[in-house]
Amino acid sequence: MSRVIRAKKGLEIECKGWEQEAALRMLYNNLDPEVAERPEDLVVYGGIGKAARNWESFEAIENTLRNLEKDETMLVQSGKPVAVFKTHEEAPRVLLSNSVLVPKWANWEHFNELDKKGLMMYGQMTAGSWIYIGSQGIVQGTYETFAELANQNFGGSLKGTISLTAGLGGMGGAQPLAVTMNEGVVICVEVDETRIDKRLETRYLDTKTDSLDEAIKMAEEARDKGEALSIGLLGNAAEILPEILNRDVKIDVVTDQTSAHDPLNGYLPEGFTLAEGEAMRQSDPKEFVKLASASMAKHVQAMLDFKDKGAIVFDYGNNIRQVAFDEGVTNAFDFPGFVPAYIRPLFCEGKGPFRFAALSGDPKDIEVADAKMRELFPEDEKLMRWLDMAQEKIAFQGLPSRIAWLGYGDRAKMGLALNELVRTGEISAPIVIGRDHLDSGSVASPNRETEAMKDGSDAVGDWAILNALVNTAAGGSWISVHHGGGVGMGYSLHAGLVVVADGTDNAERRLGRVLTSDPGMGVARHVDAGYDIAIETAKEKGVHIPMMKE
Ligand code: NAD
Repeated sequence: MSRVIRAKKGLEIECKGWEQEAALRMLYNNLDPEVAERPEDLVVYGGIGKAARNWESFEAIENTLRNLEKDETMLVQSGKPVAVFKTHEEAPRVLLSNSVLVPKWANWEHFNELDKKGLMMYGQMTAGSWIYIGSQGIVQGTYETFAELANQNFGGSLKGTISLTAGLGGMGGAQPLAVTMNEGVVICVEVDETRIDKRLETRYLDTKTDSLDEAIKMAEEARDKGEALSIGLLGNAAEILPEILNRDVKIDVVTDQTSAHDPLNGYLPEGFTLAEGEAMRQSDPKEFVKLASASMAKHVQAMLDFKDKGAIVFDYGNNIRQVAFDEGVTNAFDFPGFVPAYIRPLFCEGKGPFRFAALSGDPKDIEVADAKMRELFPEDEKLMRWLDMAQEKIAFQGLPSRIAWLGYGDRAKMGLALNELVRTGEISAPIVIGRDHLDSGSVASPNRETEAMKDGSDAVGDWAILNALVNTAAGGSWISVHHGGGVGMGYSLHAGLVVVADGTDNAERRLGRVLTSDPGMGVARHVDAGYDIAIETAKEKGVHIPMMKE
């Protein structure tokens, strides 16, 4: 059984309150064909990141949400609703735990066995916690990353440079737009033409070709004219990258966003067509993983060779270095991950991928919210530039939404302002506020968000759990704990938060608490690890950290 799910819009609700309705609409939104990568299989993004375990569970979640009282809480275990308990009106309406395995068993092999038996689901980050908003969610993060890279290496702009990457999926699809927003040229290698076409349709990508010669020609011409251009190149990264190394073309930046974190479902080995890959995944998964891993080793070797030739090379959070390292590429970690290289200073201020969606489905509500943001944070130049570009270039997918990296203090300010706009009717229906799990205080992921922490606490998972606990206590609307998002089984623990601004006093109290505790955890986590920016932020904003050194 499979159904076509569309984002639900309008002011009429079918649940017993807007909070429950919000969870239902965001579940639907995750699976809208405009948003999800493979909605027929409930797959939202990131390899096999799903919104519900199977269609039967999906329907049970729908029905439970429709009947859920304002003082009840539904529990969801890896995409299946397993219980409803009476709690209270300021408690979360939904609590979710996705893909969490006892550490000794926390590997893909064991997960895949359980998945096959229907006992588990891979929740990725925002797929299983119902706050994925399509590629926009990742565009700003990717834009920030390339902007910081440009600041550090190219005087603030990518103009006159060529970047090379792979993967145009749910997350990776943001790369071409992020590079052109920074005025650069990018070649994006992708094995699946439908993915390339999807990015062309949403205007994230400018043009496509299946010829490497043509891609290089277009890239060099645009670079020489100082024009921004993104090119989708149909091909396999493990074959194309070594091929480019053999040519006389200057590549300035190299990264990758294939779904390398999942060698069975996320990476096509060299020499395979998509159909051959699919067949072998079913008939001989072990051999498939072996071949995919070998191709990834070759891919990473090529990235290392680009580094030797002078390119800026970084890992974009898919764990490809680890796979290559396990395959014997002993210097796979010679290029850094994007968080220590470009994002950590922002995390220290509690800054991260704050986002919100208009449950009405009316783009005007986001216009009003954008205007409010401009009014509240005019001094934040990067944010203002982002808003200008986002309003011009971002096509909404599913429910209209906005992502804006805000820090400690500003998130609560914005959340409360949105609640007020709903209360006064300037925004026509409640707003859902959330964030990625890739945030300042919600994740432990030693090959990504917590790579190379100053005090060596990369693998300490307590922070993610504390984040979920405090946000539950503070009254988020749905809170989740996940394992394995981004980088795969065994490599990460992380927590999600969503809270609904419905214009009520109840929401005002909860928004004020939760949008303070959540980024506050980011400040606290980085104070604890000894980062000066975090210590300054905590002092300046009055975050109470009992053992902070003065
Ligand atoms: P996705 O599965 O939707 O897309 C991956 C794409 O890679 C697919 O389109 C696939 O066809 C393509 N691909 C697979 N093998 C290839 C090959 N050999 N050559 C060329 N293309 C190939 O995944 P996604 O949502 O785009 O995420 C990509 C990766 O980035 C994941 O590992 C994800 O965990 C990670 N990620 C990064 C961030 C970030 O902030 N950078 C955040 C979340 C996730």
